[in-house]
Amino acid sequence: MAQVNVNVPPPNHVKVLGGQGWIGLVDQMGTETTIVNAARVSFGKMKEEMDERDAGLIRYLLANHHTSPLEHVTFTFLVHCPLFVRSQWHRHRTWSYNEISRRYTEEDIRFYVPVELREQAESDRQASKAAEHIDQAACLEKIRRIHAEAMRTYEELLAAGVCREQARGVLPQNMMTTFWATVDLNNLLKFIELRDSPHAQAEIREYGMAIKQMIAPSFPHVAAAMGWQ
Ligand SMILES: Cc1cc2nc3c(=O)[nH]c(=O)nc-3n(C[C@H](O)[C@H](O)[C@H](O)COP(=O)(O)OP(=O)(O)OC[C@H]3O[C@@H](n4cnc5c(N)ncnc54)[C@H](O)[C@@H]3O)c2cc1C
Repeated sequence: MAQVNVNVPPPNHVKVLGGQGWIGLVDQMGTETTIVNAARVSFGKMKEEMDERDAGLIRYLLANHHTSPLEHVTFTFLVHCPLFVRSQWHRHRTWSYNEISRRYTEEDIRFYVPVELREQAESDRQASKAAEHIDQAACLEKIRRIHAEAMRTYEELLAAGVCREQARGVLPQNMMTTFWATVDLNNLLKFIELRDSPHAQAEIREYGMAIKQMIAPSFPHVAAAMGWQ
């Protein structure tokens, strides 16, 4: 059977990070009707289509943190992102993950080059702000140079017989990785709240926004209740 390269985005993907990263929805279980049926199962009733009362029920559930009915809807995403975004993402323990392993493969190694460099914010030690004083071209050139040097060293180590699992140690945090990630709608909404936020790093925020863009058309009442634009 034909195998597909996981570094090739699925057809329905959304591009982020100036086209260098992407996220695609590879599987989904459940709809907004699933949510209302799960909420009403206590009355022994089920429906096949949503009506206005069901839309009101979704608003009620979200407003009152009655979130367990949302857990019957799940999504599996394929995510292509830099290692530092992956580290932030994988702090969300309620997701299930499987990731490409640099112990198995040395193929398709790419590095994220920021579209625009930002300056350190003074107000918040973990935040950044739009650059006023950075020489973008010179700093981006430094980043590209270290990527090339790291890649050269990695290949020299492999050629010298060093195993992949140790040689990969010289590859920087801008290296792109690809992972599968499965989550239920309740925990996905928590992720979006935390990561599509001005407090989150701009790069992971792009993925949070992409997820909203991907799922809002199939979950219009959830999107409206969450105040998504
Ligand atoms: C802006 C920002 C900055 C951050 N900075 C840092 C940082 O500097 N250093 C750092 O280490 N982390 C940092 N984090 C990560 C943060 O601490 C959380 O680990 C991450 O946001 C995942 O959130 P979560 O635990 O709610 O998500 P999940 O792990 O998906 O959990 C969802 C919910 O499930 C429940 N839950 C899950 N696991 C447990 C558990 N073991 N016990 C009890 N309840 C549980 C909780 O209610 C939790 O809110 C940062 C996150 C953000 C958004």
